[in-house]
Amino acid sequence: MTQKKPTTTMEGEKCPFCAKGRLVLCQADHRVISPEEPEIVIAGVWVEKCDECNEMLFPSESSRYIDQALAQETEQLTPTQLEEIRKRLGVDQTEMSEILGLGGRTYHRWEKGSQYPSRSMCCYIRILGKFPFAFKWLRDGGWRHEKATATLSPQANFEKSFPDLALTDTNANTTHPPFNPAISFSKVNFG
Ligand SMILES: [Zn+2]
Repeated sequence: MTQKKPTTTMEGEKCPFCAKGRLVLCQADHRVISPEEPEIVIAGVWVEKCDECNEMLFPSESSRYIDQALAQETEQLTPTQLEEIRKRLGVDQTEMSEILGLGGRTYHRWEKGSQYPSRSMCCYIRILGKFPFAFKWLRDGGWRHEKATATLSPQANFEKSFPDLALTDTNANTTHPPFNPAISFSKVNFG
């Protein structure tokens, strides 16, 4: 992935930071730091760099390019996808943050694109978006209502808990549900 030279730039204009230098269009490596990911370097991003103070501005085409490169690099959900999933699940941004166990405004920042979710968080959100009953279970704190001992057989329990998965299981060995440690645990009688 390489960025095409932007067509709309502020090249040659006075630097808004020092008001002395001029902006020069050039390419630079852009580093993205996230608390949960290794540093990501996006090479060859077109920037407007001041020839006096070295401050840099990003043409809007470069900001879009950075978003795309980052999403590709981390298989990340884009702000638009994050918004679509949340709306499909029928909650607002604050509720979504709470349900996912995040700080109050985290989801707002992801949808704005000012911060990015980690790769593992994207996996988690993809699952919730795909299986609304799992989201509902999480939102309702389903684990709080479950008994330590199960009265149903593992097969019945699995089909009841995950009807969509049970229906789409195309393995030849359909008499046994896929191994699920949570279900094995539910068979243990703690009484
Ligand atoms: Zn400057």
